[in-house]
Amino acid sequence: MKILVATEKPFAAAAVNGIRKIVEEAGHELALLEKYTDKAQLLEAVADADALIVRSDKVTAEVIAAAPNLKIVVRAGAGFDNLDLAACSERRIVAMNTPGQNSNAVAELAIAMMIFMSRNQFTPGTGCEIQGRKLGIQAYGNVGRLVAAKAKALGMEVMAYDPFVPAEKMQEEGVVPAESLEQMYGQCNFISLHIPAVPATIGSINYDLISRMPKGGCLVNTARKEVINEAELVKVLTDRPDLKYITDIAAVCQEELNQKFCKQVFATPKKMGAETAEANINAGLAAARQICGYFETGCTKFQLNKW
Ligand code: NAD
Repeated sequence: MKILVATEKPFAAAAVNGIRKIVEEAGHELALLEKYTDKAQLLEAVADADALIVRSDKVTAEVIAAAPNLKIVVRAGAGFDNLDLAACSERRIVAMNTPGQNSNAVAELAIAMMIFMSRNQFTPGTGCEIQGRKLGIQAYGNVGRLVAAKAKALGMEVMAYDPFVPAEKMQEEGVVPAESLEQMYGQCNFISLHIPAVPATIGSINYDLISRMPKGGCLVNTARKEVINEAELVKVLTDRPDLKYITDIAAVCQEELNQKFCKQVFATPKKMGAETAEANINAGLAAARQICGYFETGCTKFQLNKW
């Protein structure tokens, strides 16, 4: 089988070498399309691919249509909003992500963001400590759980909201299950977002929720910009100059935010949550293993789409 790695932003060399080893040892062929600048290059490269590994590259219906042999697509990473799942399902192409492989990198960034904002974005002046503060984790998945464990080790009190995770599991891990989002926002000095961008969550972080935060509260977003209602974020930061917002995914209106609220907001210049050598390598290798496993045994663990 021909396995194509198509990455506008390439994997580290160590990851590519590892992917090649896994693919070739399983008897498949590896093709590489790195740093492509035009969609046409991707459409041409997928023409004879049986499997596709991407990072944040968009796998649209057009890409699927250009790949008549395609059987499986794997997004090396957790978020999969760059895959057109419906288009994959229509052709019975298995779509997967590689959950958990970059979680630690993102969790470390979320903790760093809390400290950075507590210390006035590393500008002179008196800051505050995060020890003893209350953290609310919105979504207790791979990243959320790691943020909780690290925050507890730093002396924070941690609560979490996730309608799909049993309260007992949180309690076993020393985390207080929130009864509602409203309760969690109302009590926590920090809220760390780890929800996926799905119809139920898009635009859901709004004025009503954020304005419930106690004085000096800080919202930390290492999830997706789409979950924020940006117009309401602007309004709440205007009405509550004590509140702060830090994000790894710049808002559409980031320039406006930076101009109006420079002390209250910060966005990383480029998404960097998963940008560690370790995460980069882990996700690439996992994608290659999942594809080889699918071809060898039909294993569909981590399949995202159904038909
Ligand atoms: P995950 O799939 O392990 O966990 C997601 C959690 O969200 C699950 O526990 C699920 O039950 C919960 N959930 C779903 N809908 C919810 C809702 N409406 N309310 C509350 N909880 C809900 O994903 P993860 O690996 O923890 O990653 C979380 C998100 O972080 C990803 O979706 C991705 O968008 C983002 N991410 C960002 C970066 C980055 O570079 N900044 C890197 C990786 C992931």
